[in-house]
Amino acid sequence: MATASPRVAVVGAGIVGTSIALALRKRGADVTLVDRDEPGHGCSYGNSGAVSPASVAPLAMPGVLASVPGMLLDDESPLYLPLRYLPRALPWLLRFVASARPAAVKEAAAKLAAIHAGALDAHEAMARELGVPELFLRRGHLHLYPDAAALVKDATGWRMRQEYGFQVERLDRAGIEALEPGVSPRYRLGMYLADHATILNPFRYVQAMARAYAAAGGRIVCAQVDRLQPEGHGWRLHARGEADGERFDHAVVAAGAWSRELLAPLGVHLALESQRGYHLQFEGGRDTVSRTVVLADRKVFVTPMEDGLRVGGTVEIAGLEAPPDPRRAAVLGRIARETFRGLDDLPTRTWMGHRPCMPDSVPVVGAAPRDRGLWLATGHGHLGLTDSLNTAQRIADALLGAAAPVPADAALARA
Ligand SMILES: Cc1cc2nc3c(=O)[nH]c(=O)nc-3n(C[C@H](O)[C@H](O)[C@H](O)COP(=O)(O)OP(=O)(O)OC[C@H]3O[C@@H](n4cnc5c(N)ncnc54)[C@H](O)[C@@H]3O)c2cc1C
Repeated sequence: MATASPRVAVVGAGIVGTSIALALRKRGADVTLVDRDEPGHGCSYGNSGAVSPASVAPLAMPGVLASVPGMLLDDESPLYLPLRYLPRALPWLLRFVASARPAAVKEAAAKLAAIHAGALDAHEAMARELGVPELFLRRGHLHLYPDAAALVKDATGWRMRQEYGFQVERLDRAGIEALEPGVSPRYRLGMYLADHATILNPFRYVQAMARAYAAAGGRIVCAQVDRLQPEGHGWRLHARGEADGERFDHAVVAAGAWSRELLAPLGVHLALESQRGYHLQFEGGRDTVSRTVVLADRKVFVTPMEDGLRVGGTVEIAGLEAPPDPRRAAVLGRIARETFRGLDDLPTRTWMGHRPCMPDSVPVVGAAPRDRGLWLATGHGHLGLTDSLNTAQRIADALLGAAAPVPADAALARA
């Protein structure tokens, strides 16, 4: 029920939870943002910073599936699944395969386009509002291919981008060199999304957002949430820390890849799987490129972050518990050194994060079944930065009664 100033607990202070907390607080809600860590230390810490509204094609595409079996067993491929994790991942993988049906792809694309809408302008305005306009770079995304045969593999995705109205420019080698002279001659074809943008330090962006939220009177609590317990029309939080035992009118679960564990005891079963991604950052290498460059044949994003050249990518399906596999980051380093000169002597650091992924790539944003003041904001997969602000708007509108709540039942049917 919407009340004048509802008490809301938001669990998870990644880019999604922090955006929601700020949106709710700005509109007068009494918000407590709970995380076991500092805001922005989850998956939102080390992503590639791309604001990519044209990414309307889900990951499960008919063409992708043909290459999956070979990729799964090759530990240098962009997608890796250790055999020991296969039994745990199998139910999710079967749903992923089912999501690649043409009708399911079309439906997912429409939903993705809707949640991506306006993301570029929204992030530009947010960076300005937070006092960090320097973090927003609108200089386009350049996707690179060695040849036409490699581009053909992604043809459906590019067609879908164009069908949704995004302007794409096809470039030859001279066109690539005019934009990014440092790219190796291996790449002869480019697809350029000139209006796309990049957040040049995703962690600093979340921190700036958390600071703005606190300055607006929002409360941040450092605590591990063990359980949410329904009580009357609200929720009691069981946590190891300050907010333990407190009662809220609403609870928003924005706990990224860990949301499944929090929701299952409540009878809300999501087919959420972690797709572990890595980055390797070259300190002092930021001027290697001047915009987001995607080595599309290797599914690697190269970003001129404010604190170095970030090379991000790979999908490793190995669960929430296994330690990072240094071989995955090493592959990213090798690809970067092959593609750009001048990186050999630069110091590097590596990172791994858990992308919260639904089989059909569509995030779960809306009211839990039976609308008991429980809200779901997770499953943003590869595009959580892009979709964070629109997710926050949707949750705030519905929770505060400005829009009819969108039930998350459809997501449960997908679970
Ligand atoms: C290599 C890589 C590159 C990427 N590149 C891009 C990109 O270019 N563009 C893009 O849009 N997206 C990108 N992404 C995806 C994006 O980073 C994620 O979708 C996004 O960060 C998810 O945000 P989140 O807030 O849902 O999750 P998180 O950032 O993981 O936040 C969840 C938070 O919940 C907390 N939490 C969980 N359980 C509990 C609990 N029980 N109690 C208390 N706290 C809890 C965690 O500590 C964490 O802080 C990339 C991801 C990776 C890995």
